[in-house]
Amino acid sequence: MSNPEYFVEQLCHISNTMSLPCRGERVFVLRSEADLPALSEAVASRERVHLIGSASNLVLPPVLEGFTVLVRNRGVSLVQESGGVRYVDVSAGEVWHDWVVHALGKGWNGLENLALIPGTVGAAPVQNIGAYGVEVERFIDSIRVWDLQRAQMKTLARQSCGFQYRDSIFKRDENSHLLIVSVRFALPVDWQPVLKYPDLVHFEHARTQGEAISAQEVFDAVVDIRRRKLPDPSVIPNSGSFFKNPVVSEHRYEDLRRSHPDLVSFRLDSGDYKLAAGWMIDQCGWKGHAVGPVMVHERQALVLTNTGGATQADVLDVARLISGDVKARFGVSLEIEPVCWDC
Ligand SMILES: Cc1cc2nc3c(=O)[nH]c(=O)nc-3n(C[C@H](O)[C@H](O)[C@H](O)COP(=O)(O)OP(=O)(O)OC[C@H]3O[C@@H](n4cnc5c(N)ncnc54)[C@H](O)[C@@H]3O)c2cc1C
Repeated sequence: MSNPEYFVEQLCHISNTMSLPCRGERVFVLRSEADLPALSEAVASRERVHLIGSASNLVLPPVLEGFTVLVRNRGVSLVQESGGVRYVDVSAGEVWHDWVVHALGKGWNGLENLALIPGTVGAAPVQNIGAYGVEVERFIDSIRVWDLQRAQMKTLARQSCGFQYRDSIFKRDENSHLLIVSVRFALPVDWQPVLKYPDLVHFEHARTQGEAISAQEVFDAVVDIRRRKLPDPSVIPNSGSFFKNPVVSEHRYEDLRRSHPDLVSFRLDSGDYKLAAGWMIDQCGWKGHAVGPVMVHERQALVLTNTGGATQADVLDVARLISGDVKARFGVSLEIEPVCWDC
């Protein structure tokens, strides 16, 4: 290790939006790409590396063993405009929402449906963040990653990132040595809004009446809806949607509709159906219900909150109870959305 000041104290607290107690055994704060060789040198002989942006999608254990990297490198630069596309490089440590605001301010439209999602730019491709009918993969050209084992930079084209609903190759254990350093976005110069999601569909009606809808209007609407629907983690600790919305075939969906005519769902382009996990959890009577310090949010049944003093084990116990009830009532398995280390 060439520069000991990269290390913060051993067993230092790792802040996370769920406010779970967590101490990192050894923590490295990555502030610049120039620090990457020193980082590889430091982790070379260590088996476990945890990469963390802002810990808004993590259910952390009391002690995070091994090596932890907090990704904090910053920078945004317009690379070029060609073929009707704007290419912009954004460093992994940039705050996602700040980048969305910055892009909108420059007239680089497209990201407005993804406003106010907590977290960093580097974590956005990991679970292919999505909201209001848009997933981030749509705007990704390529990703620069630092291979911690080989101490090498490489560039991955969007097609090699295996993007799917809340998933990518970066979630696989075998890729845990790939640190996302920056993301190259490809934003269309000729912008078209995405308004198919129920909460935004009134804009689509207005558009068909000949009204022009701006990216700023879509951004404002998304921010407003999110503020009303989702608890702010700085006030009520949470990690966003705790369960993925399960995707089922049309056949399975028709079966479920027969026994649950009010089933809330969203038809995908593939013909499959995405079921509203929050609705199913609500039907099982969990909305607003607390077990010890873990409470299902009273307005959004998909969100588990820490009312004070909860640990990783408390949260996972409640998650298991909820998924057991949903399985018993609907025959559908729920999958946890946040990443859970040492569970
Ligand atoms: C209130 C709330 C609302 C949310 N709403 C949404 C939503 O609408 N849509 C949605 O998709 N998500 C949502 N989330 C989840 C979360 O915002 C996203 O998953 C976000 O991308 C996490 O960013 P982060 O920097 O906090 O990542 P972290 O929680 O720190 O890490 C998440 C994962 O990414 C990995 N990772 C982080 N940085 C890097 C890097 N540089 N290189 C490689 N791997 C890395 C980590 O190892 C981990 O596996 C919400 C969360 C909260 C708390």
